[in-house]
Amino acid sequence: MIDSTDREYLQRAKLFANVGLESVEHLFEGCRRMKLERGDRLLQPGVANSHLYLIFDGELRVYLEDRSMPEQAVLGAGDCVGEMSLLDGQAASALVLAARDSELLAIPHDVLWSLVDCSHGVARNLLAIMAGRMRESNQSLVSLQTRSLEFEQAASVDALTGIYNRHWLLEAFPRAIARCERDGAPLCLVMADIDLFKHFNERFGYLSGDALLRRMARRLADGLRAQDLIARYGGEEFLILLPHTSLDEALPIAGRLRELVAIGCGLPTGEGVTLSCGVAPMLGGESLEALIARADAALKRAKENGRDRVEVAV
Ligand code: GH3
Ligand code: MG
Ligand code: MG
Repeated sequence: MIDSTDREYLQRAKLFANVGLESVEHLFEGCRRMKLERGDRLLQPGVANSHLYLIFDGELRVYLEDRSMPEQAVLGAGDCVGEMSLLDGQAASALVLAARDSELLAIPHDVLWSLVDCSHGVARNLLAIMAGRMRESNQSLVSLQTRSLEFEQAASVDALTGIYNRHWLLEAFPRAIARCERDGAPLCLVMADIDLFKHFNERFGYLSGDALLRRMARRLADGLRAQDLIARYGGEEFLILLPHTSLDEALPIAGRLRELVAIGCGLPTGEGVTLSCGVAPMLGGESLEALIARADAALKRAKENGRDRVEVAV
């Protein structure tokens, strides 16, 4: 039987909004009051559930998998939980924990169906509760997707320059190389390194150095063709992949990048900034690692030969 306290709680429950309790009171026989202590589990993913729980007092939290994820919903007095299993007859899909000592009314599913049969009001409220639940889970899906896109973005984009980072290129370059190999097309890798950047930092400060790196990355990226890939490989080193490009075509491209930098990245004092490049045309069956090593060796030679120039890998 329900007493007057139960009645007050029931009247506040969303499931019974605008429902005359007298018309359904006889059905509460099969329901039982229960208490949860803070930290108690009410439902667990994969475990059968045959009740809908009305929260009379306290607070429950719903987690999608386990507590390592942020909670999906916080439920309080008047809310209910467990209605999903009612519809599809399946085990609970979420973990539900008591965040505070809580009092509930456990309504067996067969009693709930009787309530639905007996009262249009209950049926309507139940539909509204389900719709709300779906809306919530859609919203949390969208925010999860947005967050994972942000993480993905953060993991592959260099924070200083805004162009792709080494992590990204190690994934993306091999794919481009494989495509060129499949097409039997040539491909070149350019390693570009700012000349005497350490001096630049010493003279103008690290922040000016950062600004120069940003300017230069933008210049280089803007100066490339649509199919070319560029990433910041390390401190002041950039790797540029030129797919479907022979050495004869790559050399003028590298030369143009040097000019773009010399013209566009200079200092207010009129002093220029120069770039050295090592260009390596891909050999058949060569790994990205080996290709990078040859471009690096060519770059070293450019430095040894006086900087501000392009050298070709042997
Ligand atoms: P080289 O012509 O032989 O390449 O001389 P370098 O001074 O450019 O080369 P080195 O490798 O000796 O020094 C690289 C410098 O790049 C040292 C470091 O302070 C600077 N650097 C690396 N990353 C950053 C960065 O994110 N911001 C700034 N401002 N400087 C950086
Ligand atoms: Mg350098
Ligand atoms: Mg360097």
